[in-house]
Amino acid sequence: MKYNIALLKGDGIGPEIVDSAVRVLTALGEKFGHEFNFTPYDIGGVAIDKHGEPLPKATVEGCLNSDSVLLGAVGGPKWDTLPGNMRPEKALLGIREAMGLFTNLRPAKLYSALKDDCPLRSDIVENGFDIMIVRELTGGIYFGERGMREGKYGEEAYDTECYSRMEIERIARVAFETAKKRRCNLISIDKANVLESSRLWRKVVHEIAAEYPEVSCSDMLVDNAAMQLVRNPAQFDVIVTSNMFGDILSDEASQITGSIGMLPSASLGETSRGLYEPIHGSAPDIAGKGLANPIATILSAAMMLLYSFGLSAESDCIVSAVDKVLSCGYRTADIAHGGESLSTDAITDKIIENI
Ligand code: NAD
Repeated sequence: MKYNIALLKGDGIGPEIVDSAVRVLTALGEKFGHEFNFTPYDIGGVAIDKHGEPLPKATVEGCLNSDSVLLGAVGGPKWDTLPGNMRPEKALLGIREAMGLFTNLRPAKLYSALKDDCPLRSDIVENGFDIMIVRELTGGIYFGERGMREGKYGEEAYDTECYSRMEIERIARVAFETAKKRRCNLISIDKANVLESSRLWRKVVHEIAAEYPEVSCSDMLVDNAAMQLVRNPAQFDVIVTSNMFGDILSDEASQITGSIGMLPSASLGETSRGLYEPIHGSAPDIAGKGLANPIATILSAAMMLLYSFGLSAESDCIVSAVDKVLSCGYRTADIAHGGESLSTDAITDKIIENI
């Protein structure tokens, strides 16, 4: 099969880590008989420098004409003083909106070889954990009505959490489908004891649950979920939640894995075309030094194979190559704790050797 992939390398370590993922995909293509064609487009600070805007039209068109999109990271001190709508990060919201991406999938997995990186007590994470957070990405309080007004006590500001049945139904379906491909356990997180929007959320999730009898589904209040994630993370398989709760809980979940350079993400919409990116930023402090951990981006490419192209064996092949490399003790500096470490290119070579 032939796949056209748009590459948005971006700034800082973006080009280095995307190049690593391209090398892994190319090696995988040779092994499995697929042709991956890569077309780079500018985004973020580099696009501001070259075209005077963070998200040029050609980049949006290139992404919309591709089969899927792999993004590095954007931003850096050079562009920090620009006004809000000219900042590199503005391009991220723009491209998600242009591609109609309403789902964000963020796995948080503790690799057995990296157990010592986990900040939780060893007895809590004895058996590891492997969580998939399904976060609604285009609704809720971040997009609701907001404003300033004169209130009872003078100046006041407000933001509104609003969810339609349609928005809840479509994210719930993604979550049930995701759970079906994993351990068939879904926990829907809300604040239904207080919020009207959460009560509709809960009602609609229960209705959709009836279509998926093979998936066990339960509810959890968000304050309890924040505690349970550090008390017993292994109880979670798939979590589905709203935009703001997902934003907060997915950062908490990533922290308990202990290694920011290891975590991929996927943003999906109605079509198979998705946007895949590591959860970390452009790490300007280590850019160009060969120190970046490319694994989050390589695992983002693995998610692309699974969720956009339906290539599960190929996706598993990347994940197990990463597992093997870590089990053999190879590390980049961020996870080496002062011990021996490999450069971005050298660890990529090790992963390719295991493909
Ligand atoms: P960051 O994630 O870039 O870096 C935080 C720390 O983690 C740094 O010490 C960095 O060296 C380290 N780190 C991050 N990724 C790493 C990797 N793959 N390998 C090894 N070490 C890694 O966060 P920050 O420093 O707060 O932000 C830097 C820039 O990135 C800012 O301009 C910010 O706006 C931008 N940013 C972009 C995205 C994105 O593109 N999606 C996300 C977050 C931040």
